Amino acid sequence: MGKSDLRESKKASRFSESVIREMSRVAREHNAINLAQGFPDFPAPHALKEAAVKWIRDDLNQYAVTWGSNRLRASIGTYMLKRRGVSIDPDAQVTVCCGATEAMIAAMMGVLDPGDEFLVPEPFYENYGPDAILADAIPLFVPMGDGFTLDVDAMRKASGPKTRAVVLNTPHNPTGRVFTRAELKELCEFVIERDLILFTDEIYEEILYTGDHHCPLLEPGMAERTIVISGASKTFSVTGWRVGWIISPPNMTGAIRKVHDFLTVGAPAPLQEAVAEALLWGDDYYVKMREEYRARRSVMVDGLNAAGFPCDVPEGAYYAMVDVREHQRREETDVEFAMRLVTDAGVATVPGSSFYRDPEDGKHLVRFCYAKKIETLEAANSRLLRWAGT
Ligand code: PLP
Repeated sequence: MGKSDLRESKKASRFSESVIREMSRVAREHNAINLAQGFPDFPAPHALKEAAVKWIRDDLNQYAVTWGSNRLRASIGTYMLKRRGVSIDPDAQVTVCCGATEAMIAAMMGVLDPGDEFLVPEPFYENYGPDAILADAIPLFVPMGDGFTLDVDAMRKASGPKTRAVVLNTPHNPTGRVFTRAELKELCEFVIERDLILFTDEIYEEILYTGDHHCPLLEPGMAERTIVISGASKTFSVTGWRVGWIISPPNMTGAIRKVHDFLTVGAPAPLQEAVAEALLWGDDYYVKMREEYRARRSVMVDGLNAAGFPCDVPEGAYYAMVDVREHQRREETDVEFAMRLVTDAGVATVPGSSFYRDPEDGKHLVRFCYAKKIETLEAANSRLLRWAGT
């Protein structure tokens, strides 16, 4: 008999299980405090949960319109105008997906051809690698400058005739950077100069600590080439709901909706309606949410600094990437260090190499997530301090 052909696909074999989910599993095994995966351990807003329950009771339990319920798409339009200052057409531009995760894949598959390249500032959110494989595209990871700044010159040098897009994420996971208007402006000018598409992952658009998020759609000449990815997961603390969306130029929407339809048909119908209500909430919600995140950030940053993990204050999102050299053993990799932190200190983090193409580049870094109750963060801090002292 010849060699069995009952095997995984070549595509699937090119990527492995998410390191972040793997760390969450190890954390459970060791009863560790999980500061690895980016999800809150505090409750979702009461009104949002009540709205979801109401819609389920009212029997809104069948497929929604494939590309998103009319109400949710209208609310996304209202939200974009009110909070971002951007006017969009929900009928021609919005596709609701199962989270930003599906949104990015559907958008890439809708507009990129096999062999197309896209540029990604590095370090990067780990999904973009597998996204590229699934979309038959080629990611070109371009190191950020000192202090995790956008290096547009390096992107210019890395790009060639097959480069079709840039994938930007701001506020940024894992660094906590919020790219400045000047950085965005320079990037947008490059995108226009090279006739590229900009995919902007803005899932943390409401989680920043000073100023407001600036959507690149607002830059001159960008409306026709910007695909915005966002969603409810982080803004409303409902990562398990799987409600995200794409805002695309009208001429790209049809292709993206086709891909989305055959990938998932649609996002959960009653949850779409609940999110539609939440998007119409006033400023109070965002002011309070930011205050709470600011408090969590300061507990985390103080704790990390006290335990010998030098930590800059993150500008946005809810992560701190820290240098762990002070505690690392000779020759110890970031993965080995993170495993030791789980087993010996009882705190789970994500090894820095998960955010780099070459593991060497992240070997002295780990990422802490502080989307946690103050008491969770304080408990983690005491564990870290105790461990650091031993
Ligand atoms: N994009 C970034 C940068 C993220 O950090 C995450 C989650 O951690 C996602 C997208 C996934 O978002 P969603 O839960 O809406 O799929």
